[in-house]
Amino acid sequence: MKNEIQKISLIKRGMVTLSIACASLILLSTTPVEAKGPLTAEVKTAISQKSSLSEERINAVLKEAYEKFKNNQDGKNADYIKALAIVDSKIFGITLVTPDGKVYEIGDTKDVVSIQSISKVFTAAMVIQEKGDKFLQEKIGVNATGLAFNSIIAIELHGGSASNPFVNAGAIQSTSWVEAKDSKERWAKIYSNMDDFAGAKLSFNEEVYDSEVNDNKNNQAISKILDARGRMGSDPLEATTVYTKQCSVNVSAHDLGMMAATFANDGVNPATGKKVMDKKYVPKILAVMATAGLYDNAGDWLYLTGSPAKSGVGGGILAVVPGKLGIGVVAPPLDKFGNSVRGQLAAAYIINELGINPLAQ
Ligand code: GLN
Repeated sequence: MKNEIQKISLIKRGMVTLSIACASLILLSTTPVEAKGPLTAEVKTAISQKSSLSEERINAVLKEAYEKFKNNQDGKNADYIKALAIVDSKIFGITLVTPDGKVYEIGDTKDVVSIQSISKVFTAAMVIQEKGDKFLQEKIGVNATGLAFNSIIAIELHGGSASNPFVNAGAIQSTSWVEAKDSKERWAKIYSNMDDFAGAKLSFNEEVYDSEVNDNKNNQAISKILDARGRMGSDPLEATTVYTKQCSVNVSAHDLGMMAATFANDGVNPATGKKVMDKKYVPKILAVMATAGLYDNAGDWLYLTGSPAKSGVGGGILAVVPGKLGIGVVAPPLDKFGNSVRGQLAAAYIINELGINPLAQ
């Protein structure tokens, strides 16, 4: 993951080059993102095949995706949260759930990892539900930052705003705005909302929580800056602690598939039939997922899949094909943007092989 210092030194290097070369060429050579994530040649051959969602076809494509990527060893577990570094990096599970509740899965689909940033989606869904879409857009924001998910300078560069609810700043802000009398109630609401999306009681990862809560000064700093800018709904440090708890909830590929399918099914969990959020707000949350769900690799992802998605540094990823499919993958090793390598490859492959890119319909 890039840190601010690396970023600044990159910018400086670009400025030196500027003084010795032609200006138009420099603009290209100093483009901030130096290289791609895993989504390049692997998936492009599959694009634009005919849509076919028979059970047989789904099973066949699922198996192909698993076989194709199961031995991929690219990327590495996150280690800035120490407990994440020791998670079994071989875990690989893929679950697909249709809006009518049919489940297709392969691999380690019951193995859990901490949900991390994927939790941000569900807390943002609560905020939009409680406060409306204008609030989410104006108070938190719905634009990409173009910088790493934990960036502090992104806040200053965007006028003291988090920019969107899926970077740490906007997520801590979302947490702070969940209506509750105190942080205990706020946490209980956030946790049970994630259970509702999954249609299951999700367990809590004490080890990950202890590891992160004792080492989250960067997030605390972010919360304080936002508080100084009048953007927090409750005490900043309390909100950061609740945010750290929400990141420590365990999910499997199966859970993520169900959570994704709840979005694909207009906010109704396909297994329990429970309405978890209003249909009218689903496209708003999906729009932010499309813009910023995979951080500064979101453009490449959207270009290749047309599908809203969200990743977490625990190695989970969910992708939503509205009206058609929820996809959940767990595979801990990450690319440099903090997105699961095999998760992206498998989900992109499945979307393209099934011909269900929502932008191509
Ligand atoms: N808990 C992590 C953090 O605050 C979540 C980051 C992520 O999954 N991208 O850094």
